[in-house]
Amino acid sequence: MIDHSTVWPYDERGAPRDFLYQRYGHPTGAEAEAALGALEGGDALLFGSGTSAVTACAFALLKPGATVAIAEGAYFGTTVTLRELEPWGLNVVGFDQTAEPPAGADLIWVESPANPVLTLPSWEAVKAHGAPVVCDATVSTPVYLKALDEGADVVLHSATKYLTGHHNAMLGAVVTRDPELHQRLKDIRTRLGLQASPDSAAALLHGLETLEVRMRRHTETAQELATRLESHSRVVKVRYPGFSGLISFDVDGDPLPVETATRVIRNQTSLGGVGSSMESRHRWEGDRIPKGLLRLSVGLEDVENLWRDLDTALGSP
Ligand code: PLP
Repeated sequence: MIDHSTVWPYDERGAPRDFLYQRYGHPTGAEAEAALGALEGGDALLFGSGTSAVTACAFALLKPGATVAIAEGAYFGTTVTLRELEPWGLNVVGFDQTAEPPAGADLIWVESPANPVLTLPSWEAVKAHGAPVVCDATVSTPVYLKALDEGADVVLHSATKYLTGHHNAMLGAVVTRDPELHQRLKDIRTRLGLQASPDSAAALLHGLETLEVRMRRHTETAQELATRLESHSRVVKVRYPGFSGLISFDVDGDPLPVETATRVIRNQTSLGGVGSSMESRHRWEGDRIPKGLLRLSVGLEDVENLWRDLDTALGSP
C-alpha cells in the first residue's frame, strides 16, 4: 500500500517523527532512495523529474558568477534549464566531453552517454581538471556505469526513462557520497518544492526489480540493430556506445517519412521504455543535430519484428 499522506502526526511530546510533511520526505520515497542508493553506492534523493534534479544541482553547486561547463550534445533540456539562471549571473559554456574541460570551469557536467550524440566523457580529463563533477547517467543506468566510482561527485538520472522503464512516471534522482552536499540538495528540494510523488517513487521500486534484466535485453537487441543499420544502404551514420538501448543514426534525406512509417516502433519522444520509440531530433534541438538524425530507443520486443519494421520504414534503396 502506498502511503499518499501529505502530513503525519507528531509524537506524544509534540516532536516530528521520521515523516512530517510530504514535501520534506515520505515513506515510499525513502524506500526507493535506499534501493537506488544501494545500486549506485551513495545516498540517493528523488525529485519530481530529471529536470527538477538538474535545478536542485544548479542551486546546490553553483552561485552567481560561476561557470558551468556542460558536455556538447548532452540532453538539450539540461542546457535550457541552466541557461534560465544566466540572468542571475551564471555562465554556461559547452565543451567536448571526450577532451579536456575548459580551465576556468567551476562545475563540470558530463552525460554518459550523451543523449542523442552518444559520446562518452573522458574521466581522466575530468578528474585532472579538479572541479566538482555532475554525471547524468540516465542512459547508462547503474547497470552499466557506477559514476561515483569513476570520479563523479553527483550522479543524476531522469528516472522517467530506464529506471522506472514503463513510461508511467515522471521522476528524477541524484546520488552523492558527500553528506553535506546530500543535506544541501535535500534542503533545496524542500524549499523549492521539487519532491517526487509517492506514486512515482513506487514506480521506481517496481522498475528496479527488473532493471538489470531489462537493460541486458535492451543492449542485446540494440547491438544487433546497430550492426544491421550500419550496413543499410539508406543509413549514412550509426552512433551506438555498445551498451544500453539508445541508438542514433542518420538517414540520407528527410527523416520524417521514416519515423512516421514504423508500426511496432512508436513515433514519440522520450526513451528507456519497454516499448521501442523513435523520433528525429533536429526539429527539437536545431542545427546542433544533423537533419537526418533519428533517435531510436530500443525496447524489449522481438529483434526480428523490430528489424522488419525498421527496414520497411527505411524503404528499399
Ligand atoms: N537527462 C537526460 C539524459 C534526459 O534524456 C532527460 C529527458 O529526456 C532529462 C535529463 C530530463 O528528465 P525529465 O524529462 O525527467 O525532466
